[in-house]
Amino acid sequence: MKLLIIGGVAGGASAAARSRRLSEDAQIIVFERGPDVSFANCGLPYYVGGEIAERKKLLVTTPEMLKSRFKLDVRTRSSVEAIDRTAKKIHVRDLSSGREYEETYDKLILAPGAAPLRPPIPGIDLPGIFTLRNLQDVDRIKERVDKGIKQAVVVGAGFIGLELVENFVKRGIATTVVELQDQVLPPFDKEMTTPIVETLLAKGVTVLLGQSADGFEQAPDGLVVRLKSGQRLPAQLVILGVGVRPENKLAVDAGLEVGPRGGIRVNDHLQTSDPNIYAVGDAIEVKDVVSGDPTQVPLAGPANRQGRIAADNIFGRDVRYRGTQGTAIVGVFDRTAAMTGASEKALRRANRPFRKVYVHPTHHAGYYPGAEAMTLKILFHPETGKLLGAQAVGGAGVDKRIDVLSVAVQAGMTVYDLEEMELAYAPQYGSAKDPINMAGFVAGGLLRGDHPQVDVEAVLAAPATERPFLLDVRTPQEFASGHIPGAVNIPVDDLR
Ligand code: FAD
Repeated sequence: MKLLIIGGVAGGASAAARSRRLSEDAQIIVFERGPDVSFANCGLPYYVGGEIAERKKLLVTTPEMLKSRFKLDVRTRSSVEAIDRTAKKIHVRDLSSGREYEETYDKLILAPGAAPLRPPIPGIDLPGIFTLRNLQDVDRIKERVDKGIKQAVVVGAGFIGLELVENFVKRGIATTVVELQDQVLPPFDKEMTTPIVETLLAKGVTVLLGQSADGFEQAPDGLVVRLKSGQRLPAQLVILGVGVRPENKLAVDAGLEVGPRGGIRVNDHLQTSDPNIYAVGDAIEVKDVVSGDPTQVPLAGPANRQGRIAADNIFGRDVRYRGTQGTAIVGVFDRTAAMTGASEKALRRANRPFRKVYVHPTHHAGYYPGAEAMTLKILFHPETGKLLGAQAVGGAGVDKRIDVLSVAVQAGMTVYDLEEMELAYAPQYGSAKDPINMAGFVAGGLLRGDHPQVDVEAVLAAPATERPFLLDVRTPQEFASGHIPGAVNIPVDDLR
C-alpha cells in the first residue's frame, strides 16, 4: 500500500500515525506546504500573550520524530498542486528547491484544512493586517506586539478573535473588537454571550457590535480602520478573524464533489466521491449529529478523530464517522463559554420544534468556599424531551457540564435522562443535585406540566399595557441589580 497524505497538521498527522500503527509495511508520505507539521494551532494566541513562553512548545512533533518513531516520510515545504485521479498520481512542488515532481498513490487522504477569510475590503493588503493560522503568522503578530504597540483592532468576535483580544490586553495593548453581528461568539445564542461582553468591557476592551470594517488606511503611526458607521479606529495591528473557508482547490480541480459552502463531500467512511481518495478535517462537509443536515465545523477534535477513522477504513476496518455536533469551548479572561449541539437560533432557522430552560447554579456546593456561578441553557424536543443542544457560560465547571451534555446529545438522551444522571460529587467538585440534574428537573417538570413556563421573549413581546402581572421572586439585591420594568418583587422566602 502506498498512502499519500496532503496536509501534516491535525487531521493529516493523525491519519499518518494511525496508518503506521495499522500497517508496518505501508509506504506513507505526508506532504505539508508549511515548514512545520503537527503544530499546536490552538495554542497560538497564548504564545502572543506569553502564557506559552517558548515557541518550541507549539511544535507538538517534528518531521524527524515522525520519521524515527513512525517511519513516516514527511516532506515539509512541499505543496501538492494537482491530483490526476485517472493515473492515481499527484503533482508536487518543493517550495525550497523549486523542483516539481509526481508521486503515485494507491490511496490518498486530503487534510488541507481551511484558510482564514480575507474579505476584499479596500486596503486589506496593507502591512500590519494579519490573519492567524500558523506559526509564521504568529511570529509576525508577536513581532509587532513585542515592539510595544499601543492599539490593536480585532475584526471578528469569534473564538480566535476573542482569544487574541485577551492576549493583547495581557500585553498592555488598548484593544477594540469589531463584530458585524449584534453579539460576540456568533455560534452561541445572544443572551448567553452577555457575560462575555461584560467581562470584555470590565477589562477595558472596546466592543463594537453590529459594525463592520469597510476600509483600511495607512496613517503616520500605523493604520486606521474605517467602519461603515464612519468611525475611524487608529491601530498599529489589525487582526482579521472573520471565519475560514475550506481549502478545496485541489479537490475541485480534480472533479471531486463539494457541498454548497465548499466543503469536500465525504460518506460516513470519510471517502470522497472517488473511492481511492479520503478527506478529513476543516476541509470537509460533515453530518450535523442533531439535525442530520450537512454542515462544516472547523474544530480540532473532529479533525483528529476523522484522520484516525480514514486510516482505519483504508487499512481494512469498517469504521463510520458519526457526525459532528460542534462541541466547543472558549476562555475569555476569567469567563468560560461552551456549547454543544444545536443553538436556539439554529433550531429557529431550521424551523424545528424545541423548548428551552435556563438554570443558574453554582459549579459546586454553595456552602463550600469558591463556588462560582454559571448559566446553563438546554434545548430539547417539546414532546420527546430529547436533548438537542446546550450552552453554558460562567467560571469553573462550565467545561465539565458541557462535556457531559455533549455525551448526552451524542447518545440521544432526553431531559428525563439528565434527571437520573449519577455524577461524581463532593462539595469541592459539584453538588448532590448537579447543575446537569437541575437542568433535567426543570425541563422534565416543564414537559410533565408540573410548572408551566412562559419564555421571556413572549413576555417582552407583549405590549406594555397587556403584559401579564410579573412577580420577581429573587432577593431584593438581585432585583435591584436588574429586572423587567413593571415587575413586583416578593422574594421567594417571603412568598408563602
Ligand atoms: P490544519 O490543521 O489547518 O492542517 C492543514 C494543513 O494542510 C496546513 O498546515 C496546510 O499548510 C496544509 N496544506 C493545505 N493545502 C496543501 C497542499 N496543497 N499541499 C500541502 N499542504 C497543504 N479548534 C478547537 O477545537 N479548539 C481550539 O481551541 C482551537 N483553537 C484554534 C486557534 C487557532 C489560532 C486556529 C488557527 C485554529 C484553532 N482551532 C481550534 C481549529 C483547529 O486548529 C482546526 O480545526 C484543525 O487544525 C483542523 O485540522 P486540519 O487537519 O483539517 O487542518
